[in-house]
Amino acid sequence: MSRHIEWRAVTLLAICLTGSIPLFVVSGFQRSVGAHADARLAALGASIWGCMAGYVAVRRRLGPRDGAVIIGAASTVMIVEGLCQQEITIRWLCAAALVVVPVAAAMLLRSRGVAATTAVALAGVVAISLTLPTPPLLRVYSALTMAVMVLAPITVVTLLVRRMQAARDLARTLAVTDPLTGLCNRRGIEVRAGSIVAAAAAAGEQVTVMVLDLDHFKTVNDTHGHAVGDRVLTEVADAMTRIARADDLLVRLGGEELGWVAHFPGPAEVTRAAERLHAAVRDRSVPDLPLVTVSIGVVSADPAPGQGAVETVLSLLSTADRALYEAKRAGRDRIAYAPGHPRALTPTS
Ligand code: GH3
Ligand code: MG
Ligand code: MG
Repeated sequence: MSRHIEWRAVTLLAICLTGSIPLFVVSGFQRSVGAHADARLAALGASIWGCMAGYVAVRRRLGPRDGAVIIGAASTVMIVEGLCQQEITIRWLCAAALVVVPVAAAMLLRSRGVAATTAVALAGVVAISLTLPTPPLLRVYSALTMAVMVLAPITVVTLLVRRMQAARDLARTLAVTDPLTGLCNRRGIEVRAGSIVAAAAAAGEQVTVMVLDLDHFKTVNDTHGHAVGDRVLTEVADAMTRIARADDLLVRLGGEELGWVAHFPGPAEVTRAAERLHAAVRDRSVPDLPLVTVSIGVVSADPAPGQGAVETVLSLLSTADRALYEAKRAGRDRIAYAPGHPRALTPTS
């Protein structure tokens, strides 16, 4: 078998063996002192633990369903043994072992499974503690203590897992976000291309890509300073964000070149969107910031047969970039459409 054994399986295997071996020893001891009913119960419990150990050893890799079977069976054995055994040490051991059940569940089950398992373990330790042959006050005290011991570790584990997930989500977002403009960076194309291309296909529309480049931006920097240039760039990105739909993909392709990946019902809507974008940048009026113009290259197309979403977007970006070059060559501050659009290569000012 080529599948390697995973750490969760090893952990559960260790737990199952720790459960089965002492119970076999106890069943032998009980038989020797004539407690045959207890010995049968201990042998049954030990056999169930043994079967679970065998199951884990065969499965090697555990999914949520395996986890539910093993943890459910283990909890049942511990609760039955804890309630029915005469031997007080075994009863204590069962209650103590139930404490690890929610944490083991957290390794393998989803949140509802963990909650259900925690409730079962809690009920189990309280029931075992309250039926111990000790003074009533001590029984209540041990029930409360055991309840806290069940709840404390799983609460800590749950909080840590939540924090870890939040940190992972933040890291993922930062990895695909351009820090200056807040738009996606190039890496974001790989993450978002699939959904935008699928949305276009679902709407029966072509994928449209616009590439926008600020005109004479070097002069803006040289005249007003780099900090002002940064603010202009951010302003332009904000203007794009206001025009685009929430599901569209806005990318900072590099330097002062930005991309808009979207889908529209037809060429007329594409033209309108490009003109709105062009005007939105030109007509900005932010105090203390110089006015700038942009050149825009536009292309709309269906994905080529057999082409993946990322390749589709990248290939449309390079076509739009060629159209952008035409817009620059024709004098800047205009839109150029790639072949396929009714206004192809007849730049508008
Ligand atoms: P063109 O109309 O041909 O696009 O001229 P341009 O001056 O905009 O183009 P060029 O490629 O010569 O210069 C791009 C400038 O963009 C140079 C660089 O300093 C500036 N730039 C690139 N990234 C940033 C940035 O993050 N912040 C600022 N302030 N400027 C940037
Ligand atoms: Mg430029
Ligand atoms: Mg440029």
